[in-house]
Amino acid sequence: MRVVIVGAGIAGTVTALALSREGHEVLLLDGAAEVARGASQANAGLISPGHCFSWAEPGIAGMALKSLFGMGDGIGVCAPWMPSLWRWGALFAREGKRDRWLANSRAALALSAYSRNLLFDDRNIPLEAYGGSHDGILYLYGENDEPGPYDVALLREAGESFDSLDHVKLIEREPMLGSASVKFARGVFCANDGTGDAARYAAASLNQALSLGAAVHFGEKALRLEVRGDAVCGVETTHGYYEADAVVVTAGLASKQLLATAGYSLPIYPVTGYSLSYHVDGTSRPCVGAVSIPHKVAWAAFGDATVRFTGFADIGVPGRAKVEARLRALKQFAGNVYPIVRSIEPIPWVGQRPMTPDNLPFLGKSAHKNLWLNCGHGAMGWTMACGSARIVTDLILGREATIDVTPYRWDRYGMFGRRSSTDAVWPALA
Ligand SMILES: Cc1cc2nc3c(=O)[nH]c(=O)nc-3n(C[C@H](O)[C@H](O)[C@H](O)COP(=O)(O)OP(=O)(O)OC[C@H]3O[C@@H](n4cnc5c(N)ncnc54)[C@H](O)[C@@H]3O)c2cc1C
Repeated sequence: MRVVIVGAGIAGTVTALALSREGHEVLLLDGAAEVARGASQANAGLISPGHCFSWAEPGIAGMALKSLFGMGDGIGVCAPWMPSLWRWGALFAREGKRDRWLANSRAALALSAYSRNLLFDDRNIPLEAYGGSHDGILYLYGENDEPGPYDVALLREAGESFDSLDHVKLIEREPMLGSASVKFARGVFCANDGTGDAARYAAASLNQALSLGAAVHFGEKALRLEVRGDAVCGVETTHGYYEADAVVVTAGLASKQLLATAGYSLPIYPVTGYSLSYHVDGTSRPCVGAVSIPHKVAWAAFGDATVRFTGFADIGVPGRAKVEARLRALKQFAGNVYPIVRSIEPIPWVGQRPMTPDNLPFLGKSAHKNLWLNCGHGAMGWTMACGSARIVTDLILGREATIDVTPYRWDRYGMFGRRSSTDAVWPALA
């Protein structure tokens, strides 16, 4: 089967490898000059089922409103107020009802845990290839914070291993916190989570796909999906036209525009985040990846050379002043947690999470036979990459997916709201 995949970020490259391993003829297209130039370029690098819960949580609408008046902590909303922001914002706010949050978080956890296990079990791409580590992640809270009322229950229900740690145990687990001027009172440690550089993983996946016969065209943007009757038969690009037996859209944020050429209107909206990558060769590094939940900042070491701090969430695309202020705040936070970096000039990066209102991707079949979706992974695209690629590959091959794909259906949203007929049924939380 000839498969054209649009987008060579983490979603597209891993999908290209999964399909190549099944013996398919794969052509991967990307408008950028090299692999992983979108959201996968310098993200936080956390493979984090332990905290993959939906960001549309009870109380989120109030938090977003506060941020409009400059009172938000780590989250913000950026002008201009386009109709797409109103639509997305209204859908996002509605997902913050308790029952929806629980359903969305369970679905995120099911996909994340499945994906993490595939990632760390794949001996063909070893940890060294992408600065990875499978040593767990610490989720940290201050004196006045604690895990949400259902977080731990969801982890337990899913059979995830976790430990609740007090301040002393936190420092035993991560000695670096002993010298930090930011103090954490408690934390949750998820031993099965891990970290790694998503861009290096994307490059490694692409290289393996190429060695299995796949082809990649960089600098070639897909302009339009070619629809004939009830099928998508190919892709028109800046350089020509490619006929395909199957087309997979893995274009991250830009999937929305590309899919609009075939009549889709998917609510995917940018939520901007920021990272600073420090070259720390030869100095001591954090032992495990960590997230300060109240500050909305994460950090992780990739191999021996890089420590990256990543944080904040601004709905939309911020202007220059906001970007500079966020990067300044991130730099200060990094210096407070890990004083060594105060004397190191970091590489700054600004990226957009391709976010859906329920924080779940669009995965699997579409309204057109031959057209498959693997996009809209929001804040969890690295964590969910291997599972999403496996699911799409299984479905293309006519096999049943290993986990229930109902929550990720493309048609779960209408123009003005959610279609409840597309909801998965979950048992009551114990
Ligand atoms: C600050 C930040 C921190 C994050 N931290 C984490 C984390 O710790 N853990 C986690 O799991 N996730 C994290 N994420 C989320 C994760 O980075 C994304 O969900 C993921 O990278 C999305 O991957 P993708 O391949 O779908 O999209 P992208 O990486 O954006 O790739 C899309 C590709 O499609 C190409 N493209 C777009 N349009 C076209 C077109 N028309 N034709 C051809 N090519 C096209 C682009 O050039 C790009 O290469 C973070 C994101 C951000 C921004």
